[in-house]
Amino acid sequence: MASKYNYNTELKRVVLIVDDEMINRELLGFMLKNDYDVLYAENGAEALEIIKANKKLLSLVLLDLIMPEMDGFELLGILKSEPELSQIPVVVLTSEETAEVKSLRMGAADFIKKPYNMPEVILARISRIIELNEGRFIIRSAAQDELTGLFTKDFFFEYAQLEERYHPDRESDAIVINSDRFHLVNELYGRDFGDEILKAIAQGIDNILENSKGIACRAEADTFMIYCPHRADYDELMDKICSVLSDMSVNPRVRLRMGVYPNADKALTIEQRFDKATSVCNTLRGNYTKRVALYDEEQNSKDVYFERLINDMASSLENKDFKVYFQPKYNITGDEPYLCSAEALIRWNHPELGMISPGDFIPLFETNGLVSHLDYYVWQEAGARIKEWKDKYGKTVPVSVNVSRIDMYDPEIKSKLLKILDDNDLTTDDLLLEITESAYSEDAGQIIEVINGLRDAGFKIEMDDFGSGYSSLNMLTELPIDVLKLDMIFVRNMHKDEKALRLVELIKEIATFLSVPIVAEGVEEEQQCKLLKNLGCEIIQGYYFSKPLPHEEFEELLKK
Ligand code: C2E
Ligand code: MG
Ligand code: MG
Repeated sequence: MASKYNYNTELKRVVLIVDDEMINRELLGFMLKNDYDVLYAENGAEALEIIKANKKLLSLVLLDLIMPEMDGFELLGILKSEPELSQIPVVVLTSEETAEVKSLRMGAADFIKKPYNMPEVILARISRIIELNEGRFIIRSAAQDELTGLFTKDFFFEYAQLEERYHPDRESDAIVINSDRFHLVNELYGRDFGDEILKAIAQGIDNILENSKGIACRAEADTFMIYCPHRADYDELMDKICSVLSDMSVNPRVRLRMGVYPNADKALTIEQRFDKATSVCNTLRGNYTKRVALYDEEQNSKDVYFERLINDMASSLENKDFKVYFQPKYNITGDEPYLCSAEALIRWNHPELGMISPGDFIPLFETNGLVSHLDYYVWQEAGARIKEWKDKYGKTVPVSVNVSRIDMYDPEIKSKLLKILDDNDLTTDDLLLEITESAYSEDAGQIIEVINGLRDAGFKIEMDDFGSGYSSLNMLTELPIDVLKLDMIFVRNMHKDEKALRLVELIKEIATFLSVPIVAEGVEEEQQCKLLKNLGCEIIQGYYFSKPLPHEEFEELLKK
């Protein structure tokens, strides 16, 4: 039945005329038909059906009040009580003065007097009401996140600012909520289910704000923000939000974390307070024992330090304070181990802070994309060294460089790498690429595509830190890789602990299944080296042979 009313979109706005008298319908229809697509109904019941079938298209309903079956008041009442239909403006058609006030009170946008003796006035009114309503809709849709119904980030910040202006003395909190590895939920259960979870989180947030003066938004993807009067029950808040998730039919096992910048310093802007809440929230990433953290002095000094590193990076890059070290890898298959390749590792010799470990700044620069500049610098330096050694000693040592997961989003990555080869007369056998396992769990589709592109160009891909990330065994079969680098944590205890040894054996079996060689990292003792050799591991990197070295010292090894 409804299909007969389904309306094909044209550019003209669609208007529904509801009147039981044919002459009235025709008269109005005649006035409107040049500017609008006109639908007709003879009574409220028929109108309701048409409205439901065309709710997304209808711009206006012109409604007579006195009709058989369902009269205009009844229909108006129904329309205003259903959120999806209440957005459509209704103009009442009437000849009775008293009905006007009543219908306006019931939510009519305007009224038009019968008989229709001034068509221009009627047309102008109709178009004005449609315009007003569309304007309101645009404002509303910019304020509201379509998926969750919470505010959008921009609107949220505006609103919070207004709140502050009117309540400058009220103590307030900035709260950020985020989830661990949400992309995995999307991958494992599908996007629709991911959306359900986001809606459930929003629902949980809505519930806790119900009786407080707080507001909330979905800032992006799986990040939510709450601005509310200062409170102390953050753990309880978390419980309440999580309880909505555990009530879902499929338990998604999503782990939420919450960062709070409590009792906000009014000297900071709203955005700055939420930056602080975000940074403390990020410290909980991957922490399985703690899910709520408050911003404190310690976090503050860390932020100041990180801020400094971010500020100093560009000048340090220019001044060549970043050095590329080389750690040799040894082939242990024969009687005598021999140096067969190397890994390029960055070091920051900061002019004032001294030597800074990459463990401090690489993750930081990954959060803001700066890491790409550093990586490109390292690739160039490594390329130039390989060439230098090739020219001096007549042979090349393949060098692996680290490729951050952030680099995967650089559309130029392949051409940059190829240019380095070209500039230095090298081939893809000379410069190898290490990509950390955790990159694969980020956005598997995108990363596999980029890696396939690089492999098509001939590059060899080494999967770094294997075993520390989250690749599912299933995904491994799709991953295009040439070498598997065993994460250090497995090597650390393999000579002391039966279970650790068994794990290394298992990983070796995975490598055999994938037909790729294993490189073991972090080998410090002879015993580890022997065990690895027995397991059939071919290449070893670690302090047992050598620490990462400045290029001059590495060159001494090459001479031998
Ligand atoms: P990674 O790529 O897994 O590099 C191996 C790390 O293990 C290096 O730490 C190396 O010094 C260390 N290592 C090697 N053998 C041993 C050992 O026997 N015992 C111990 N305890 N450690 C050993 P490093 O140089 O501090 O680098 C840490 C991480 O920082 C690297 O892990 C890599 O993920 C990242 N990184 C370093 N340089 C770069 C770079 O140029 N670009 C990017 N994107 N990341 C880099
Ligand atoms: Mg590496
Ligand atoms: Mg590694």
